[in-house]
Amino acid sequence: MKGKVTILTGGAQGIGRTIAEFLADRGSDMVIFDVLDGEATVAELREKGVRAAYFKVDVSSLAQVEQAVATVVKEMGGIDNLVNNAGITRDKLLLRMSEEEWDQVIRVNLKGVFTCTKTVIRHMLKKGGNIVNISSIIGLMGNAGQANYAASKAGIVGFTKSVAREYGERRIRVNAVAPGFIMTKMTDTLDEAWKEKMVKAVPLGRVGEPIDVARVVYFLLSDYSAYVTGETINVSGGLYT
Ligand code: NAP
Repeated sequence: MKGKVTILTGGAQGIGRTIAEFLADRGSDMVIFDVLDGEATVAELREKGVRAAYFKVDVSSLAQVEQAVATVVKEMGGIDNLVNNAGITRDKLLLRMSEEEWDQVIRVNLKGVFTCTKTVIRHMLKKGGNIVNISSIIGLMGNAGQANYAASKAGIVGFTKSVAREYGERRIRVNAVAPGFIMTKMTDTLDEAWKEKMVKAVPLGRVGEPIDVARVVYFLLSDYSAYVTGETINVSGGLYT
């Protein structure tokens, strides 16, 4: 990771922030794209001795992504890795789900992966690169109340396989990670009884921590996975296999 430049979306908090810390600890320069203020995260990353920058970017806007990526290339000298982690939920049963709730989730979770990958991959064509997309086991198994979220996360799996096929010969690897139940702000709001039920269903008998996801993202960005592309790795304690 030393001397590499990694763009990470949604890195101001949660799983993304832990991924940022994990990669910075291993020497990667870090660029955070987030709608949430990421200055505190970036200050902490700099203390680890790497270059770090935060851009207020809504990943669902191709124009905002293009502008930020152009600045990154100019100021950091190139891009080696992209981690598409930004994501939202707007849970409702289908009959109660508004058009806006459907659109918001698809725009951020799925279109956001398209905008960032399309823009960044152009700068990886000459010397190769690595892309990791954060999906979810919900995209693979479905979940009542999350049709919009499940569709967006399943879409990421198909997108990952397709782009891996398109750019493999350019030495660009594209993989996905599908986390299960991970403790973050996103899952904090869930009903306690439901959380307990989930933990009982996890073969490894515990909820996941952001670090469990960060380690697998690191594996996929590193040469340890040099012959792996187009894959989705579940990080769910066996909840979904
Ligand atoms: P989180 O704590 O809510 O962090 C997501 C970050 O993305 C937040 O800082 C959020 O800002 C930002 N974001 C939202 N919309 C954005 C946009 N349009 N452009 C740029 N940034 C945006 O979520 P998390 O739990 O760490 O989840 C990270 C990823 O893992 C997501 O893709 C999620 O779907 C996936 N995942 C999570 C779990 C889990 O159990 N936590 C399980 C499976 C998959 P705001 O807070 O201002 O919205």
